[in-house]
Amino acid sequence: MKIAVVGGKGGTGKTIIATNLACTFSRRKEKTLIADLDVDNPCVLNTIKCIKTTLVREEQVLRLKPRIDSSKCNLCGRCIQVCPEHALALIPDKGVILIETLCGGCGCCVLVCDQGAIVENYVPEAIVRYYSTEFFDVLVGELVPGYRRSYVIITKIVEGYRDFFNKYDVVVIDSPPGTGAGVFSILKNSDKVVVVTEPTPVGISDFVKLLKLLEKKFNNKKTIVVINKSTLNESLTKKIEDMCNRNSLPYVKIPYSETIVYSYVKGIPLTIYEKTDREVMEVFYSIVEKLTGK
Ligand code: SF4
Ligand code: SF4
Repeated sequence: MKIAVVGGKGGTGKTIIATNLACTFSRRKEKTLIADLDVDNPCVLNTIKCIKTTLVREEQVLRLKPRIDSSKCNLCGRCIQVCPEHALALIPDKGVILIETLCGGCGCCVLVCDQGAIVENYVPEAIVRYYSTEFFDVLVGELVPGYRRSYVIITKIVEGYRDFFNKYDVVVIDSPPGTGAGVFSILKNSDKVVVVTEPTPVGISDFVKLLKLLEKKFNNKKTIVVINKSTLNESLTKKIEDMCNRNSLPYVKIPYSETIVYSYVKGIPLTIYEKTDREVMEVFYSIVEKLTGK
């Protein structure tokens, strides 16, 4: 079972909830992987600093970066015409140049150049690291600094690692914030969705956007809402609850708790921290029960 943990905005507590769900599943003896696909800013490892992690494997995700050999180029312009990203340009005195930040690595230019003037060249665009811990395994995808196509990397990982994910009973995917193409790709490749929101005006506005995406593209299926820090603003929490009820979405509330802040700062998952409030612990077991039906 693949579970996407999504949240409209950063700072809602999405990663903490993803980590603690992974912990809860592993305590139920289910073989669990947490996949950190917030590739611009992965921070799952920060939330489990107290757990010993062992790096098992590291892989590069490569992308095509065409190299232009101007000595072979006859300036026919075919590559410029076919480039879907407008990443090639003809500059007087320089010939054809590549605007690297626009190139999506599709390879069309290599195919159309009959002079052999565009050569295939691969560079790392992201690193995928795989760790083991005593509780669950961790996969972290991280963009190489300077690259911006996070959705391409996220899609490559969720689709390219499908067989690897299938070796686990449960894969909890920590998604990037927002409703962008990367989140869409994760939702498309997941069985269940946990939407994390909070009772703030921005939290509600982003929650509405996520609900629209889920309803329009995924028919609201398999979704559970977590209202984090619910005691911070009772009236906005009530507003979120009303929205959930109108959309027939199950929800749980996690009260604001000093324990959660402490566990975040110290990198101790709540579900293994002995001082965690019983009420908070029960929320995680209740989410898991709602996800699994048992
Ligand atoms: S298709 Fe090849 S030969 Fe034509 S302009 Fe592009 S690089 Fe030059
Ligand atoms: S690889 Fe694709 S996107 Fe990049 S320059 Fe070539 S045609 Fe354009």
